[in-house]
Amino acid sequence: MTNILGIAAMAVALVPAPKEQVWREGTCAYVEKDVRYVRDAALPPEGYRLEVTTGGITVASADDAGAFYARKTLKQLAAGDGGRAGARPSRGASGTPRPTIPCCVINDAPAFRWRGFMLDEGRHFFGKETVKGLLDQMADHKLNVFHWHLTEDQGWRIDIPRFPELVKYGSVRPESPMHGCRGTKGDFRGNGQQYGPYFYTADDIREILAYAKERFIMVVPEIEVPGHIRALLAAHPEFACKEGLPRVPCMFNGVQDEVLCAGNDDAIRFMEQVYDEVCTLFPGAYIHIGGDECPKKRWKECPKCQARIKSLGLKDEDELQAWVTRHFTDYLAKKGRRTIGWDEILAGNPGTETIVHNWRKPKYGIEAAEKGHDVVVSGLGMTYFSVPQGVPDDPFTYLSPKMRCSLAKAYSFDPCAGMTDAAKKHVLGAECCMWSECVWNEYDLAFKLWPRACAFAETVWTGGISDAQERVPPAGRDFADFARRMAIHRKRLIAAGVNCAPLE
Ligand SMILES: [Zn+2]
Repeated sequence: MTNILGIAAMAVALVPAPKEQVWREGTCAYVEKDVRYVRDAALPPEGYRLEVTTGGITVASADDAGAFYARKTLKQLAAGDGGRAGARPSRGASGTPRPTIPCCVINDAPAFRWRGFMLDEGRHFFGKETVKGLLDQMADHKLNVFHWHLTEDQGWRIDIPRFPELVKYGSVRPESPMHGCRGTKGDFRGNGQQYGPYFYTADDIREILAYAKERFIMVVPEIEVPGHIRALLAAHPEFACKEGLPRVPCMFNGVQDEVLCAGNDDAIRFMEQVYDEVCTLFPGAYIHIGGDECPKKRWKECPKCQARIKSLGLKDEDELQAWVTRHFTDYLAKKGRRTIGWDEILAGNPGTETIVHNWRKPKYGIEAAEKGHDVVVSGLGMTYFSVPQGVPDDPFTYLSPKMRCSLAKAYSFDPCAGMTDAAKKHVLGAECCMWSECVWNEYDLAFKLWPRACAFAETVWTGGISDAQERVPPAGRDFADFARRMAIHRKRLIAAGVNCAPLE
């Protein structure tokens, strides 16, 4: 396993840690064009073998992604501790300083194939440049799924030219809660500032998709149904159960009673057409359909929804939601797409072809995997970096200021915790999430995301079960070692202009 020889190698701080690393005496000057890349079909997908000798650098991989991740490792090795120590520059023929890399052999491959980051742009819109910066940082940390939460109660962020009213009404709200986050329905004080119109055009999306593809990142758009759609209902109030909804997205936070009328055929047909357009824009294999936090209050009162329950012979409103999930899963399957939904969809026993995105208690992820669903795991207390890290003098506001997810807690995350071996086989991977009720700009966002997302990246790339779970750490995952590397890696993030929060 890990073998660190000599003091120079102690300055090496790879994040996420590779699976196996052996350090040797000597160094090699790093010149990207002189790196030798070879193919080795025997290596695992996305994996690589990196060999640095005094004579040169060789990278072997089975695929382009593996070579890409080897370059990311080389970049960190060459950066040392951000240019101040560690990698001592040598001089090339022209006298220009060149970084050097300690001699080593690194064998590396990801523990999980779904290594995601979710960005909520419904509550707050960050824009193309911030998203591209995040994609760069994801790639640097070997994350490969960008889950793009584009529709919410508070904003609709994707232009669907066939339905221009979606962004006309859905992408602009008259105001936002004062202090960023303290507004709930019963206690709403607005800041008096119009927010929007903010949305992505088809050209913007194509640009982001191309940028992501170059970095081996898959983009999974999330278009929520049947809840969290007040912004859609602002554009099309005819698709709500209740008449007379205001033609503006929701201004306050929290779970909304107003959802899509599941008994209205026109509403179902409309969503199909929205997904048609989303599939045209997004070529990826997966579409996230949300499905979380859908109160059944309106469905219980709505004659159309009740008529649907009766005509389909459903037991209750939970089964009506399952019908909605199954309807869009089947619809999207015909278009060659696989759906993923938040774990509330389990209540109605959807078909196992739907991937379940666990976000509440781990028991729902375990239940889903045991029922045969593939599972992506996020943990409200472990991978939701919209809650405070708990560092002193944190200048930013939070939706749940009393909750905590420390760096050590984030590092202790294990997507497979509590699962049987059979259930573990269904875990595709995990996602860390940035909900943006209280995130106002890229500095705020970066402070909340980093360094915890570095810890997350290690949990999904390096894998293993952390000490915090009091289990044997098969990949040598150890928080003290992570903290040592992270202290160095944080300097690199700061040097790159990323507003990384302090460690604890
Ligand atoms: Zn209804």
